[in-house]
Amino acid sequence: MPSVFSRIVSGELPSAKVYEDDETLAFMDINPASRGHTLVICKEEHPDIFSTPPHLIAAVAQTTQKVALALRDALNIDGLNIIQNNGAAAGQVVFHYHVHLIPRWQGDHVLRSWTPHPTDPSELQAIAEQIRAALED
Ligand code: AMP
Repeated sequence: MPSVFSRIVSGELPSAKVYEDDETLAFMDINPASRGHTLVICKEEHPDIFSTPPHLIAAVAQTTQKVALALRDALNIDGLNIIQNNGAAAGQVVFHYHVHLIPRWQGDHVLRSWTPHPTDPSELQAIAEQIRAALED
């Protein structure tokens, strides 16, 4: 069963498109967090960052920057959050790799940031070591 975004790519479902090239598509989020909330997807369906080929991650990143510049110029934004959810635990609902561009204006309170938790530097070193080991595999 193709994802809802694959059905947009194939034209089966409508969308408000803002940009398209061979590998990516950008369109308006149907339930925007803020005015101009745009999604960038890779046309080929892959669930998340773990499974998407690197060249498509790069293509999505390039389109994300193009759209970010257009949002800045078109909507007079004060800021922009770029969010990319992977897995239900991270809030992902559509399992087709995509990036959210959420325009922000001073004082809009659209997104709450996380609560920082100061930690022991030795704990940070231990986690960094675990990640470095995984990178070497
Ligand atoms: P995520 O939680 O990162 O998986 O976000 C999925 C996003 O897709 C949500 O913000 C939805 O509002 C959006 N969405 C779902 N269906 C559609 C659709 N048909 N057209 C545009 N956006 C959609």
